[in-house]
Amino acid sequence: MFNRLKKVTHKADLPWEVHLIDNHQWNAFTIGGGKVFVYTGLFKGKLAVRSDDELAAILAHEIAHVNARHASEKQGKLMLSKLLDKKLRSAAYEASFTTNQEDEADKYSVIYSALAGYKPSAGAEIWARMHKQLGSDSKDRLHDHPLNADKAKSLTRYAKLAEQYYHSGKINKNYKTLLTNNAVFFHQGESTLKAGEGGGFLALFETLGNAYVEAEKAKQEQRKRGL
Ligand SMILES: [Zn+2]
Repeated sequence: MFNRLKKVTHKADLPWEVHLIDNHQWNAFTIGGGKVFVYTGLFKGKLAVRSDDELAAILAHEIAHVNARHASEKQGKLMLSKLLDKKLRSAAYEASFTTNQEDEADKYSVIYSALAGYKPSAGAEIWARMHKQLGSDSKDRLHDHPLNADKAKSLTRYAKLAEQYYHSGKINKNYKTLLTNNAVFFHQGESTLKAGEGGGFLALFETLGNAYVEAEKAKQEQRKRGL
């Protein structure tokens, strides 16, 4: 699934990796640089992800955060200090995004889903379900994702626009053109990025990501051994 999704996104050549973390919380997040983390908690309980389409919606959303460089240099620095503070886990989900960034990620994610052949409305369905279960409170956050009715509404709107590019189970043949210009957004390409900008930090993110993964693996290994 991840392979099909990343192929139709703006940065298909990033060293994408998705990691499953054994944690009861309902969350997924990214630290940038192509690394996406998914908690096993996403698949449990009342809010559990119910289909491939829904999982794709979540992955597409995180991919969108990476591609739009929401895990910015500033945030990176902040996170770096926190990571070095050994609070690996909390640092990771304290990386909160602004409402604008969330909205942008939602726009991109419905297109990514549609182009990869996953139902673009799946994300809206998740949010609607969550809103029903947990109520609306913009201060109430599911880690990096503010929970409110507006989000479900705008996601539904974007999904309807993206529907025309969706062919169930199939990658849209025109995905390259559609990534630049479609009914949901106009992507201006990489010209806004200055050459070399963030390169150092991306590399750093890679290292941090790996350190994080290693730390998580070690913890899980310890748990398995009952330590
Ligand atoms: Zn988000």
